[in-house]
Amino acid sequence: MQTKQAKPPGFEAVQEAASRIADQIRRTPVLTSAEADRRAGARLFFKCENFQRTGAFKFRGALNAVRALSQAERAAGVITFSSGNHGQAIARACQIEAVKAVVVMPTDAPAAKVRAAQSFGAEIVHYDRMTEDREALAKSLVQREGFSLIPPFDHPMVIAGQGTSAMELIEEVGRLDALFVCLGGGGLLSGCALAASALSPGCQVIGVEPEAGNDVQLAFARGEPVSIDVPDTIADGARTTRVGDITFAIIQQQVTAIETVSDRSLIETMRFFAQWMKIVVEPTGCLAAAAAMRQREFGADAKIGVLLSGGNVDLTQYGAWLASS
Ligand SMILES: *Cc1c(COP(=O)(O)O)cnc(C)c1O
Repeated sequence: MQTKQAKPPGFEAVQEAASRIADQIRRTPVLTSAEADRRAGARLFFKCENFQRTGAFKFRGALNAVRALSQAERAAGVITFSSGNHGQAIARACQIEAVKAVVVMPTDAPAAKVRAAQSFGAEIVHYDRMTEDREALAKSLVQREGFSLIPPFDHPMVIAGQGTSAMELIEEVGRLDALFVCLGGGGLLSGCALAASALSPGCQVIGVEPEAGNDVQLAFARGEPVSIDVPDTIADGARTTRVGDITFAIIQQQVTAIETVSDRSLIETMRFFAQWMKIVVEPTGCLAAAAAMRQREFGADAKIGVLLSGGNVDLTQYGAWLASS
């Protein structure tokens, strides 16, 4: 596939993305909390992508990738196979750019997700999760209909777009001693690492994935991508089974360490955000914060960036998590 040979983007690609998407993305707020600082033993700066359009950072990479297409590619339309935040972000970006969007979703996808993509004008193509492979289906539609495939993470323009979140954070608060970023396929982490190494040299960049699906931690130690079964975790944005090839190349070069967080700790962190900072953060969005708030060796003056990746969560489920103990 074309993206397999694609050269990893550099920081210039992040800068280009920032100007390409500036008029449509929200410059999300950076929040602080004395209680968070107390827990971490350092100064934490939360970049709140739960306030981004479509409720997650994915809109950055999606819009950058759609806008980077040629006229011919735009005319043919875009396809993706994520039913989660990336699918919504692609649907919205294509609506803004007046490009046809096709989102491949399982027949049993939650009605709310189907409706969200449809409300942005996307066409839904269903597949049977038991008997069909969504990537193979998407690729056959690419061949037959000439659509451009924009995958959720392993794509230079997606990575560069995601990196604009860390770029904004560092522009706003200055140099960081460390930056914590959640990690599924690694689009957000690799883009943020490009921004951090250029704008805040020496900043430690720490990727955080669910304990139940630590494939990147294993890959990082082994020096090559590792495939695992679909992990059983409430962090649904990080249920990936294998890191990307482009994202992994950047992670290997630019990331300091990979840590893991338990589901229990994600629930405690969701509760922390509701109680102390009055914000709704989805489980995957809590990964980086959960890890940052257990760090103690940085020192009280250290400046630590924390990416809150999104806030899309089913409210009934969210209420049950907050009420559980
Ligand atoms: C997609 C997603 C992630 C993981 O991002 P990757 O680029 O795949 O590592 C984390 N949090 C949220 C809210 C997401 O939607």
